[in-house]
Amino acid sequence: MAALAKPDRRREEYLCTSCNMNLVTDVYNKLHSRDELVFCPSCRRILYIPDDLPPELAVHKPRESKKKEAAAPKEPPPTKDAWTEEEFMTRVEHSENPALKANHQTLLEALRGGLPGLAARFNGQGAVNPSYNVYADGTDRHILSVNADGRIFAFWNAFAESGQPEMADYFRSIIEPLVLDSSLESEPLAQSDRNLASTDLPALLSALRSLGDKIAERQATDSAASATV
Ligand SMILES: [Zn+2]
Repeated sequence: MAALAKPDRRREEYLCTSCNMNLVTDVYNKLHSRDELVFCPSCRRILYIPDDLPPELAVHKPRESKKKEAAAPKEPPPTKDAWTEEEFMTRVEHSENPALKANHQTLLEALRGGLPGLAARFNGQGAVNPSYNVYADGTDRHILSVNADGRIFAFWNAFAESGQPEMADYFRSIIEPLVLDSSLESEPLAQSDRNLASTDLPALLSALRSLGDKIAERQATDSAASATV
């Protein structure tokens, strides 16, 4: 069994104290109001409410939270400055998942050294999950969001928005089998999600390398075209 924890009194966020994984917001209500077992989606331990977390500390006033829910936009506004690499790595470390840690390190090293056309930036903002963004040359916004919990969300439309619809299609075709669609970003972590801890890392790296090659090709074509004009 594992107790819930509420790391920040002002935020309705809960962690599993065994594996430090973020839990969905309504986990407290579920445990408090219903007679059912709730498992941590990460470590599968049965969750329980510890004595030092009574409802008045755990949950916001119902009226307040209802109002908030109704007015809340789909993507919650950033409530903090960008996540730092240190915060990100601390969360990865807390997962106590050696495969997740090793794959995070390999991916980050590749993005920093061996994958031309792509760059990792720790400028991700979010309320709960530390993450970093991956940018591609020639796009205005990030194409991937890599979460400390191992989920990777892809934004193929970043290419379409930068006037490269064929690159958007290409990127989607090679990356979709390996990562998650960005539309799932606001969903809670699910056991069945594709995850960096269990993904085919060589395939992921090779897809990103192909993308980098394609970007370089396009840049060469563009500069050749502008040279002949
Ligand atoms: Zn857990």
